[in-house]
Amino acid sequence: MSTVNRETPRPAAGRAGIKKELPDHFKDYRHVWVFIELERGQVHPVSFELLGEGRKLADKLEVQLAGVVLGPPGEAIGNAIAEAFAYGADLVYIVEAPLLADYRNEPFTKAMTDLVATHKPEILLLGATTLGRDLAGSVATTLQTGLTADCTELDVDTDGSLAATRPTFGGSLLCTIYTLNYRPQMATVRPRVMPMPQRADKPVGRVIQHKLSITEDEIVTKVLGFLSDSQSAKANLAYADVVVAGGLGLGAAENLQLVKNLARALGAEYGCSRPMVQKGWVAADRQIGQTGKTIRPKLYIAAGISGAIQHRVGVEGADLIVAINADPNAPIFDFAHLGIVTDAIRFLPALTEAFTRRLSPHNRDKLAS
Ligand SMILES: Cc1cc2nc3c(=O)[nH]c(=O)nc-3n(C[C@H](O)[C@H](O)[C@H](O)COP(=O)(O)OP(=O)(O)OC[C@H]3O[C@@H](n4cnc5c(N)ncnc54)[C@H](O)[C@@H]3O)c2cc1C
Repeated sequence: MSTVNRETPRPAAGRAGIKKELPDHFKDYRHVWVFIELERGQVHPVSFELLGEGRKLADKLEVQLAGVVLGPPGEAIGNAIAEAFAYGADLVYIVEAPLLADYRNEPFTKAMTDLVATHKPEILLLGATTLGRDLAGSVATTLQTGLTADCTELDVDTDGSLAATRPTFGGSLLCTIYTLNYRPQMATVRPRVMPMPQRADKPVGRVIQHKLSITEDEIVTKVLGFLSDSQSAKANLAYADVVVAGGLGLGAAENLQLVKNLARALGAEYGCSRPMVQKGWVAADRQIGQTGKTIRPKLYIAAGISGAIQHRVGVEGADLIVAINADPNAPIFDFAHLGIVTDAIRFLPALTEAFTRRLSPHNRDKLAS
């Protein structure tokens, strides 16, 4: 692998100026693949985001875009295939086996690496979800190829190789990574980093089946059960339409309640900046930013957050960013669409009250009529 670091603003991928001698047998590797992740029978939306990116790469390379669906026989696999076509796949590879009912590293790695060894894709993309990260790492090490994790930009270089760009040095630099000596070229992308493509009602394409060649005896991991969603109480920040977040400017752990109150009034999720997690004031799955969640809500309200680059990269996909900060020179005002220079501790309750009044069922009916 080779790394080319450069400062922002940066030229498009492919202009890094490094000369690459690509071995001849790389020509055997063709087409772009996207792993279609099934999460308890539902396709994880990051798979659609990756199909959108994969489509662009495949069109540039003039090759096909394939989805890869691994799962147990049943309705879910059929739906996943249909959705993969609707989001742009030309063909779908499937490995359908009862052993793939719940995610376990060994059978999923076996299924994917056998598929890759047989059909030789040049690019393989996976979502940087818990499952995707686990699978991508073991697939890459089994295949002895390069993997670029948490990419923020994917492009095709002038010689046809994948230019996978990701933040480095604490987010202050972006580097573009090429897998020069191995195939396939693998990359993961976090949910919400890439935009959701349009869904089309496309007729089904080609489905290629592959057999799973591993037995239960060879798998050391056993699934004993799952915590219900109410037990795990997971934040769904990445796909929330409205997010309200608080930072160190809130001053004390108890002031986070002001953020939660506003979030409740708006039917929103709440989040925070990294120091709030480091102080133990908020759970880690609520952190927004480079080392937390990437969000793309319609509305993002940030209270007492300075807008450091590591926070910014996680929120700049929001349609509307409203920043509440006491300092008129806070960096967040450089990228917020609407800035309110004031004390968040005093302003948040007033905003919550105003929204509660406006969004009360009585007023909602009046507004609708
Ligand atoms: C490798 C690495 C990864 C990182 N990943 C992340 C990440 O994922 N997410 C993240 O958020 N950070 C991340 N950080 C940390 C990041 O650099 C910043 O330190 C952090 O975002 C700052 O958090 P903050 O804005 O809450 O606090 P501060 O920077 O301290 O800002 C507090 C803000 O509140 C304002 N304020 C103070 N009092 C009030 C008041 N009463 N009312 C209104 N405003 C007020 C201040 O003017 C200030 O702008 C990372 C850093 C590194 C090095």
